[in-house]
Amino acid sequence: MPVHKLVEEFKIDPSKVFDYLDSLYDNIKRVENKIQSFITIIPQETLDRYVENLIKENKHRIDNLKLFGIPIAVKDNISTKGIRTTCASKMLENYVPPYNATVVEKIMREGGIIIGKTNMDEFAMGSTTETSAFYPTKNPWDTTRVPGGSSGGSATALASGEAPLALGSDTGGSIRNPASFCGVYGLKPTYGLVSRYGLIAYASSMDQIGPMARNVVDLAILLSVIAGHDPRDSTSVPFVQSVDYVQELYKLYHKEPKLRIGIIKEFFEGSEEPVKKAATKAVDLLCSYHECQEISLPFSKQIIAAYYIIAMAEASSNLARFDGVRYGMKIDFTNRSWDEAFTEVRTKGFGYEVRKRIAIGAYILSAGYRDMYYIRALKLRRVLKERFDQIFKDHDIVVSPTMPILPPRLGEFFKDPLRIYLADVNTVAANLVGIPAISIPVDFYNGLPVGLQAMAKQFSEPLLLYVAKQLEDRTGFRDILAQP
Ligand code: GLN
Repeated sequence: MPVHKLVEEFKIDPSKVFDYLDSLYDNIKRVENKIQSFITIIPQETLDRYVENLIKENKHRIDNLKLFGIPIAVKDNISTKGIRTTCASKMLENYVPPYNATVVEKIMREGGIIIGKTNMDEFAMGSTTETSAFYPTKNPWDTTRVPGGSSGGSATALASGEAPLALGSDTGGSIRNPASFCGVYGLKPTYGLVSRYGLIAYASSMDQIGPMARNVVDLAILLSVIAGHDPRDSTSVPFVQSVDYVQELYKLYHKEPKLRIGIIKEFFEGSEEPVKKAATKAVDLLCSYHECQEISLPFSKQIIAAYYIIAMAEASSNLARFDGVRYGMKIDFTNRSWDEAFTEVRTKGFGYEVRKRIAIGAYILSAGYRDMYYIRALKLRRVLKERFDQIFKDHDIVVSPTMPILPPRLGEFFKDPLRIYLADVNTVAANLVGIPAISIPVDFYNGLPVGLQAMAKQFSEPLLLYVAKQLEDRTGFRDILAQP
């Protein structure tokens, strides 16, 4: 369907917004206890009142608001003023931020409404949403399986019709992995395109907030709202003020330029058979129009090692602030030494996976080991960046399966932590290099979704949206809902 028509379809008529919210909340009541997408859900009365005010205050300009009346599910590591923001951790169980993240502010300015805060892996460390300190979220296509992570709750809220749009964060795949496992679209923007102000940091040199949606045009609309320079985030790029990604998509979609597509050999070879088949089928669809060539990205094992070394090192430094005094869980300090109290806060406040990563991260950065691990990882990051620069001289985009596996059963990965880390092999490169990457739902195998990943040069988000839209048209993967 043409892009402009889809944009019209996206809009909500102010006279219908309350009926729409009614049906949305009915659906939440029906599915939420089965999948547990949310940590906090805003009560319907509160949201109704908020929308009444929104209509009153914007009487003459509702049509100009890009997100008027659209509920958005926000990952619980993104600060929301007056709404609890836990990072799925006991450490921040009762934390209510006094300010909004820039992305939240931007969404609200366009008339969007925050419907709730979604479940995630604790401090975004994980790939299954099982490290949440509260409960695991279930995959709506098969509730015995994980939804992926760490933005698992955002993906399941979309896939089961609890919200039409969602925000996730992606440090090594946390938007694309759950998008792939839940059959929705997810985009990790170029590093610096979207402000990180108000995002609770995991690994700052790779963290990026991004949009998630059930179709490509919705994804482009949300990206347009959140992208752009923010002086409050020093890594935000100053030369992008605002871009209308819908317009960019529209232009490409109608011009239909032929692209040079690189197919990453190693990422296909390393994938499970059903994933490989489904992704190959989607690539064939693209290659019937575009020009395709197999390319090689060696050292995939080293990529994973470098990613985890850098991520853990940065995490150990970022999470040092949760000491129970300035940040985090409050405990009684009277008559106790600093060491005792500090230890108690951090043992009670952090879960196993987070404690493990802080310990490994501190070790990696310690004297004598820093050169052996951290500095070597940075060198590999540089080599990888050079390899991608070279690839993008001859290719506009590169594709691979998003995840090398189908969604595992709940608990299955816990027995084998190394396997969890290795499953991030296709997604972490984009974060190490800082380039944009999208996960496009392309097929089902035995009722489980499979996603295709596309990556492009810095700031080439429009190209990613373009190929995603072409695939959406050809596969019919649009607004498909699970029935948990
Ligand atoms: N699974 C990866 C990790 O655990 C990625 C997480 C993320 O992108 N936040 O670090």
